[in-house]
Amino acid sequence: MASKDSLKTYRDKRDFGRTSEPAGSEKKSSEQPRFVIQKHDARQLHYDFRLEVDGVLKSWAVPKGPSTDPRDKRLAVPTEDHPMEYADFEGIIPEGEYGGGTVLVWDTGTYRNLREEKEGDGASMEQALEQGTVEVWLEGKKLEGGYALIRTGKPDKSGKERWLLIKKRDEKADARRNPTSTEPESVLTGRTLEEIASAG
Ligand code: MN
Repeated sequence: MASKDSLKTYRDKRDFGRTSEPAGSEKKSSEQPRFVIQKHDARQLHYDFRLEVDGVLKSWAVPKGPSTDPRDKRLAVPTEDHPMEYADFEGIIPEGEYGGGTVLVWDTGTYRNLREEKEGDGASMEQALEQGTVEVWLEGKKLEGGYALIRTGKPDKSGKERWLLIKKRDEKADARRNPTSTEPESVLTGRTLEEIASAG
């Protein structure tokens, strides 16, 4: 779905007269592709893991959030592409709107496509997504090192795919860290979800 209206689903789901989320302009690419992880206190708390690919943010909802322990396999359910501007969105989505709840930028930075760098592989991000095997090196403030996103099994009855987000075994792996609980605050503003929610 790398077509030019890959943001249509995103826009169709939202009423920009009500939500302060960005409508997003056309696709735009950064010199170094970005990633962002947003903590989203919606009906169910989850983390939205987003990777810039071809000018949009490819997105997965990760209920438990990322781990720094390679033994953890975190469920990641794909969601609609988001515009690049979303990477800086932090605030409140009004109740009753799609995704209603509080959003915090939990981590952000740049990433590298590890498969593209691998001899004998060289897969682009588009190919990696198509194949269901993404391997990236994150350079974030809280998360660093290799992460894999692996599509697993078949889509369920509603067509939803299941992927797994797994820390790769490298020098940045650390089973003792637990940054989702020890570093809950925004990397943009230092605020907690509660502080964003009460600021209105
Ligand atoms: Mn979300």
